[in-house]
Amino acid sequence: MRIIVIGSGLAGLTAALRLRDAGHHVDIVTKGWGGLLLSSGTLDVYGWGKDGRPVLDPYAAIADLVAEDPGHPYAAIGVEAVREGIDWLCSTTGLFAKAGNNVLIPTAIGAVRPTAAVQNTMVPSLMEDGKKFLVVGIRQFRDFPAAFIADNLARSPLAKVETRAVTISLAPRKPEADSTGTTFARAFDGTAGLDGPSTRDALIHELRAHVRDGETVLLPAILGFAPDAYQEISAELGVPVGEVPVPPPSIPGRRINDVLIQLCRDKRIDISLNAEVIGFEASGGHVTALQVQRAGRVTTNKVDAVVYAGGGLESGSIQRNSYGEIRERVFDLPLTFLDAEDPETTGVTGSVVVNGKDIFGTGVCVNADMLALDGDAPAYDNLYCAGSVIGGARPWSEKSGEGIALGSAVAATRAILRRD
Ligand SMILES: Cc1cc2nc3c(=O)[nH]c(=O)nc-3n(C[C@H](O)[C@H](O)[C@H](O)COP(=O)(O)OP(=O)(O)OC[C@H]3O[C@@H](n4cnc5c(N)ncnc54)[C@H](O)[C@@H]3O)c2cc1C
Repeated sequence: MRIIVIGSGLAGLTAALRLRDAGHHVDIVTKGWGGLLLSSGTLDVYGWGKDGRPVLDPYAAIADLVAEDPGHPYAAIGVEAVREGIDWLCSTTGLFAKAGNNVLIPTAIGAVRPTAAVQNTMVPSLMEDGKKFLVVGIRQFRDFPAAFIADNLARSPLAKVETRAVTISLAPRKPEADSTGTTFARAFDGTAGLDGPSTRDALIHELRAHVRDGETVLLPAILGFAPDAYQEISAELGVPVGEVPVPPPSIPGRRINDVLIQLCRDKRIDISLNAEVIGFEASGGHVTALQVQRAGRVTTNKVDAVVYAGGGLESGSIQRNSYGEIRERVFDLPLTFLDAEDPETTGVTGSVVVNGKDIFGTGVCVNADMLALDGDAPAYDNLYCAGSVIGGARPWSEKSGEGIALGSAVAATRAILRRD
């Protein structure tokens, strides 16, 4: 079977690798790299309940969520596929501490949020009663305001911790006064001509003067693409050292991205980058070919099945035109809309509201096989959807993005394998 996966985000890469492992010929066609490079590198399954409280057991809570909201994508995906997807990513990348109940992780503004799995580098950073944190800012890295973070964490109602803050000077590339997380990560790794050992040594030297026994050092998540620098720094300092996710570019997100892309290459999955699916051919309710635009020309690629993992509004699969109409761009699939929430009553902020609808909740409807629906019936018998192109959830505010991406990729893959 010849399968094309549209999109190289978490959903597309997962579906492609699982289909390849089952022996299929899979190509990825993607406009650009996906959202992993921007994400925090944690795995959100279901973080915030509708009561605004952190969810403890996300898998158990999904049952209540879908009972109350049968239009939520988890109702079609099923909790077991979500669990399988999360476990698959953890074991495939080797980057994560064991996933299970939600844990609480600090953010780069000193808020606290629940997530189902954190990278090993973040385990020391977990918010747990009684911990003492030394929050370390770096003058040359502006996205980690240490004093502000420390102050907010100490006031969190979700965990009782003590905090202090210190800001040190560490220039990974002199004479830059303001370096990106990517430059720091390269310096810690010693790649791109930057001196790894000396940057690590300089950090350790600076921190020695400040660290006290019993404290955990919190640093921005820029400690290298290699996932073990934090252990080395910790061993030298004699105290635990943990990473805290920071705004993009995201080093923890890129760690996941790089492992999955390398696996695609190892398994001979062709990734066409800068290639956009702009149309399709269909016959008798069956997609027969995709029209792909790359480098100024359009080719027609025959397919037996399609996994549409093109993302949501933020990736351009869901678009709003100048008349205010919202539509799915490639297949013109019918969409489901979520009503905007009232920030006064829900505490939810940051939604983009168009005509009273939450645009980030807008997307395609699917059945249990992840086939895109037109009414109650599949729009096409071989057009499977995965990830945030599926509507009916609020991944950013309820913290369900990775659970939906991985669970739907698993469910779509299983359905395609049943066709064999
Ligand atoms: C900055 C950011 C932060 C987020 N933070 C959170 C969070 O904290 N918690 C949470 O739960 N969720 C969050 N999300 C939601 C996030 O969307 C999901 O977690 C998940 O990453 C979506 O993965 P995806 O594979 O479905 O889509 P994406 O990662 O968006 O990938 C879509 C892919 O499709 C490609 N594409 C689109 N259209 C076409 C086309 N026509 N032809 C070819 N390729 C195409 C794009 O180039 C891209 O590669 C965040 C998203 C972003 C962007």
